[in-house]
Amino acid sequence: MNADLYNIPDLRIYLYTTTIAGGVLLWIIEGLNPCFFQQKHRGLHAKLNLSMAGLNLLILLPSGILMAFMLDWSRNAWHGIGMLTLPPVAEAILIILLIDLWMYVWHRLNHESAFLWRFHSVHHSDATLDVTTSWRFHYMEILLSELLRLPLFMLMGAGIEHLLLYSLLMTPVIEFQHSNVSIPPAMDRLARLIIPSPMMHRLHHSRLRSEHDSNYGSMLSVWDRIFGSFRMRENLDDLRLGLDHESDSDKQRLIALLLRPFRP
Ligand SMILES: [Zn+2]
Ligand SMILES: [Zn+2]
Repeated sequence: MNADLYNIPDLRIYLYTTTIAGGVLLWIIEGLNPCFFQQKHRGLHAKLNLSMAGLNLLILLPSGILMAFMLDWSRNAWHGIGMLTLPPVAEAILIILLIDLWMYVWHRLNHESAFLWRFHSVHHSDATLDVTTSWRFHYMEILLSELLRLPLFMLMGAGIEHLLLYSLLMTPVIEFQHSNVSIPPAMDRLARLIIPSPMMHRLHHSRLRSEHDSNYGSMLSVWDRIFGSFRMRENLDDLRLGLDHESDSDKQRLIALLLRPFRP
């Protein structure tokens, strides 16, 4: 795929529009038809998670510009997968699959490394899962993720258009899997043949470590099946979300969450 085939400014606009429209739509639907009924103070919960997302944008926006510049520069010297001279669409599919595989590995590392878990556990400390949780990440997790993926994407020979296309496909899935929308079990079973479904990701947010160390996929559920981390149980009625000892209101404040990874 080259930049002329897929217009980069258009892809950016599609990504922003899809992210915002998908988020707002799911927030309305989960308010009307929730899976977990115990949610209170939805507005305050959204405000906290969106504050964290706002901080992350301060990293993501300059990092996106740097990524576009670096990927463009590196592809002049190293073509990576481009050396296979595949048709543009096949090349794009292969790069998107590899990016999603990296997202799986990165998420799994965030659970298996005690250092990375310090930051990623801020995402898991949310005891009331909804669409706004999909934007709740500690800024250090975002920063480390951006720093690590740049050399990997350069090695793959990915272009910014591949990254935008991947984000365009992956973001609605991430929003849907975090949402509190109630969907019929049969529909969830069907969805998880392809994507990590809401029920899969709810189990990933279980308080039990045996359950939250599973279902790491971002866009596709196939990686969890291949690497043996797929977990599911049909009845999630007794599922407790979040982390033990982290639900108190004094711990669920912006400053407390930002400082949490640096505490002993
Ligand atoms: Zn996780
Ligand atoms: Zn999550």
